[in-house]
Amino acid sequence: MTDDLLADASRRPARAVPHAEISDELRHRLEQPASSLKVSIPVRMDDGTLRVFAGYRVRFDDTRGPAKGGIRFQPDVDVREVTTLSYWMTFKTALVDVPFGGGKGGVSVDPKELSTAELERLARGYVAAVADAIGPETDIPAPDVATNELVMGWMADEYDKIVRGHVPAAFTGKPLALGGIPGRSSATSDGAFHVLRTLRDQLLPDTDEPTVAVQGFGNAGSQLARSLADAGYRVVAVSDSRAAVHDDAGLDVHVLAEHKRETGSLEDAPAGEEIDPDELLALEVDVLIPAALEGAIHGDNADRVRARVVLEVANGPVTADADDILTEAGVEIVPDILANAGGVTVSWFEWIQGRTGDRWDAATVADRLEQRMVAATEDVVRVAEERDLPLITAAYVVAFERLSAAVDAQGTVRTYNGG
Ligand code: NAD
Repeated sequence: MTDDLLADASRRPARAVPHAEISDELRHRLEQPASSLKVSIPVRMDDGTLRVFAGYRVRFDDTRGPAKGGIRFQPDVDVREVTTLSYWMTFKTALVDVPFGGGKGGVSVDPKELSTAELERLARGYVAAVADAIGPETDIPAPDVATNELVMGWMADEYDKIVRGHVPAAFTGKPLALGGIPGRSSATSDGAFHVLRTLRDQLLPDTDEPTVAVQGFGNAGSQLARSLADAGYRVVAVSDSRAAVHDDAGLDVHVLAEHKRETGSLEDAPAGEEIDPDELLALEVDVLIPAALEGAIHGDNADRVRARVVLEVANGPVTADADDILTEAGVEIVPDILANAGGVTVSWFEWIQGRTGDRWDAATVADRLEQRMVAATEDVVRVAEERDLPLITAAYVVAFERLSAAVDAQGTVRTYNGG
């Protein structure tokens, strides 16, 4: 293992290993990333000075297809974080059975300190620095924290210039006008919605109006809150980095989303009462949705969680220590590699579109996303029932067995020793 972060991230998969039919060779292959690149990106600032930023691109595993994963712009990004995220992507792509491996990238920068023109030079500089390691058949980046369609548009354009041709399948999450796909911005929340809907009868059989609290009223969290409210769930609390609002009778999340869009935060919200953001995690609700940060529920606060189900929309919002505490308390965790896999699934559609030159319409994207998310959820439920496992472990079993089938198909010790 490269460090503690990856060791911590390996604890969920490690629990699945005894229940999965996999070769030892797969486990060895997943101990280290296939490739890990650190680059320096010199950027000319608006005032004429030069700053040099550290960038990373990690391809963890590509046995099942080209690596796939976002690029984040964040001050504390380092190789350990990017490696861990690429490790999770390896399982996520296997679980939803898209023909990709796991990758991730990042730049250590506070994007709020940069002008738009500086950000563009940084985005283009990143692509120039990692161009040999990415491409539609090797490793396909996408947006992640603090990168968006505009950044992907710059990056895709820079890549095209470097290879001297149009390669729309080299990036996903692009603007529609540059080969993006309808529905990409709501894909993560739509996918999470289908997962919860598929599990609802099993996890919440005795309630007509399940109550929901959402930590992180951003892109994924606010869209999911609105879809759930429209589908008859009662959203009683939402929070962002500055404020949390609560109303047992249910919040008007459409009004709150409008307020957040206009003012940039949930402060002085026109609905509900403000509560301490930490209190949101301790509300007695049917479904708690962490949709903000890694490690939001950890060993020191997990015993305060009183939800019946935790739906992990953020990546890694529940630490391995907290897994134990929640599972012991009977809380069912729907793991991130299933709950937030809608984003990578629609990225797959965008990649197909880029490779074929076809255009998909919104209805086709929505139908195929629903089919894929329901199928992945049903695979997890089947394994959970057959092998008497919590959903988290069952999800890793499904992913492991898909990865193992690919590794076995290339030959393992049994192939060569006739065993
Ligand atoms: P975002 O930046 O749009 O939203 C994040 C929200 O969390 C913001 O509203 C922010 O104010 C809030 N937040 C930050 N700190 C908080 C705190 N301490 N308490 C409460 N709220 C806090 O990001 P996003 O795209 O919605 O992504 C959210 C999470 O979902 C991330 O972990 C991301 O990796 C994961 N995810 C997103 C996608 C996607 O397609 N958007 C796909 C897969 C996973």
